[in-house]
Amino acid sequence: MPLLPVEERIKSFREIELGYSVEQAIKEAGRCLQCKEPLCEKGCPAGVECKAFIEQVMLGEFDKAVAIIQEKNPLPCFTGRVCAEEVQCEGACILAKKKQAVAIKALERFVAQHGKNEWKAGKGNGKKVAIVGSGPAGMAAAVELRKNGFSATVFEALPLLGGILSWGIPGYRLGKECVERVVKEMKENKVQFRAKEKVGEAKMLSSLMQDFDAVLLAIGEGKAKKIKLPGIEKQGILYWDGFLQGFGRGGKSLNGKKAVVLGGGNTAIDCARTLRRLGCTVTVAYRKNMPFMPCNKSELVHAMEEDIEFKMQLAPQAFLGKESLEMVRFKKMAIEKERFVETEETEEIEADVCVLAVGQEYDATVANGTELQGKEIKINGCKTELWGVFAAGDLANEEKTVVHSIASAKKAVEEIELYLEGKKQEGI
Ligand SMILES: Cc1cc2nc3c(=O)[nH]c(=O)nc-3n(C[C@H](O)[C@H](O)[C@H](O)COP(=O)(O)OP(=O)(O)OC[C@H]3O[C@@H](n4cnc5c(N)ncnc54)[C@H](O)[C@@H]3O)c2cc1C
Repeated sequence: MPLLPVEERIKSFREIELGYSVEQAIKEAGRCLQCKEPLCEKGCPAGVECKAFIEQVMLGEFDKAVAIIQEKNPLPCFTGRVCAEEVQCEGACILAKKKQAVAIKALERFVAQHGKNEWKAGKGNGKKVAIVGSGPAGMAAAVELRKNGFSATVFEALPLLGGILSWGIPGYRLGKECVERVVKEMKENKVQFRAKEKVGEAKMLSSLMQDFDAVLLAIGEGKAKKIKLPGIEKQGILYWDGFLQGFGRGGKSLNGKKAVVLGGGNTAIDCARTLRRLGCTVTVAYRKNMPFMPCNKSELVHAMEEDIEFKMQLAPQAFLGKESLEMVRFKKMAIEKERFVETEETEEIEADVCVLAVGQEYDATVANGTELQGKEIKINGCKTELWGVFAAGDLANEEKTVVHSIASAKKAVEEIELYLEGKKQEGI
């Protein structure tokens, strides 16, 4: 995949992956062996028929290719940019064992751009579904529901639609015009969006349960988990959610600052690469070592190319400085009996800014005014313990990724259809 040169990358929030040309895509598709039993499809959490869509790319039939993908995944422009291909489709590709896997993710991105498969809402069936949250799970569910003739109304707490795709994943990985294009298409198909209406505050879940035939909670886990460490209140310390919402779209400068990011997932690397673009020198500190970092491999490679330093086996202990942060103190971790354990040895890293990206949780206020207020929402698959209320996306999933969110939204829509056909909502 062609990339922006590093010097240009760190000066802007422009997408760094430039996408294939028509010739490059057809050539890459031509490397596919068209296996009798395509393992790549087993590797895709949404079950996309990779073999068939790649064959259509090879033939130059991009409209047919995108139609095949959208059978299983209505939002390929997102997954073609942010999936962890190395542990999904491409990790399973037979060619990965010998030389290089077919670049399935890049082909998906190409097809989403070049293929036309404008979906159309189905004939109305008179049933209304409320969706809480406009991230990939909420969007995928709304598309599926409209295709099947349901009315779909999406309630979103923020003014911005798209969930983490809009305010979390930075524009240099996922251009915001992608989200705008998908939302526009949804509006054309009469998906109704109610931005700035937080369920549990502006609108109560109990009233949605009365006004709609079913409710889907797709609220994600967009809140940072708070940690208690000495000095956490110092100026210059930020959690990932506030940092990405405030700085993640560029337009601000932290030029010359020394920044430390705590964590090893995509969120940590996105914070690090954003800080780099804002003019900081950046160190990522992680408790374990590199093979354990849960971030996408491509993120790690790009971060290294962008001169971000990585320090492994460091567990944060305290934030030092007067009012403002000056230093982060860590305990070094050792490996004992295949486990990471803290030692008494310490290390300090100078920092004016520290971004904490060490955990996420959902915003429980959604259940205000229901029997679940103040309790954990129990979820089994995509069913909740509230009658007629379903769940999808990060809220319901073990694996918190875009493709898993889309796959679970499709499953939730199937369950909602069964429920509305009068079948019992079992399983909780
Ligand atoms: C920085 C970052 C980078 C990531 N990188 C990747 C990646 O490279 N690849 C990948 O596959 N995954 C990645 N992920 C994970 C991925 O973004 C999530 O798995 C996915 O967005 C979850 O989708 P969702 O629809 O469940 O939730 P979200 O995208 O979180 O959307 C939920 C929406 O619900 C809204 N909401 C919440 N509560 C309410 C309420 N009470 N009323 C109304 N609206 C409400 C929120 O405002 C939000 O808009 C990343 C996550 C982060 C934070």
